[in-house]
Amino acid sequence: MKKLVVIALAAICALSLFGCDNSKEKTEGDTLVMATNAEFPPYEYYEGDKIVGIDAEIMTEVAEELGMTLEIEDMAFDSIIAAVKSGKADLGAAGMTITEDRQASVDFSTPYTTARQVVILKDGSDIKTVDDLAGKTIGVQLGTTGDIYAGDVEGATIERYNKGFEAVQALTQGKVDCVIIDNEPAKVFVSQNEGIYILDEDFALEEYAIAVDKGNTDLLNKINDALAKLKDSGKLQEIIDKYISAE
Ligand code: GLN
Repeated sequence: MKKLVVIALAAICALSLFGCDNSKEKTEGDTLVMATNAEFPPYEYYEGDKIVGIDAEIMTEVAEELGMTLEIEDMAFDSIIAAVKSGKADLGAAGMTITEDRQASVDFSTPYTTARQVVILKDGSDIKTVDDLAGKTIGVQLGTTGDIYAGDVEGATIERYNKGFEAVQALTQGKVDCVIIDNEPAKVFVSQNEGIYILDEDFALEEYAIAVDKGNTDLLNKINDALAKLKDSGKLQEIIDKYISAE
């Protein structure tokens, strides 16, 4: 009887367009591996040797909802999608913006927050509006949406850094004219460095979500359900408020 069921299942798998890769299915008691780039305060950063921040806390809660234990893997931002695709990580949680390009290789959860791309400038800068960026040297973090947007600026030279902080350092050292980066890390970097400020005009609006491998609907649904619960209970907002003070 059991054999028959197995054969029937195999037949269904063979017929299914989506395949039956059970190895990916995560159940209670499993470890949930989160890929991130812990250089992105207040979403993920080191406190001693521990990775803390909004994403780390949200995903700890999500893992708990699913009866799993969260394990965080720190890597370069532009390695996260590859890690999720190869199965090295189950998900990417890294202040990651939903973009069409990324949607070709990963599936995104429902967004858990909105964000803005902003421009950081050095005191005395002649850049007064986003239009003034034309022809300037722009510092960005490699593979981020800031990097993508900078590519659309007419005549601009783009300097790419592995860490957002390194781009900001290049700005303070006068190596670049400005940095395009997400608003919350921008606020943290500006507060940690003398002589730089954020341009009043935003560059772009975005939404952050959790990335899972394309087609991993089982995990995606579980994450979405857990996120919905965290939203309803107010826990999600509580975590965000803990790291971001109201403006
Ligand atoms: N939100 C940006 C992106 O998704 C930057 C994320 C990051 O550097 N962690 O590209």
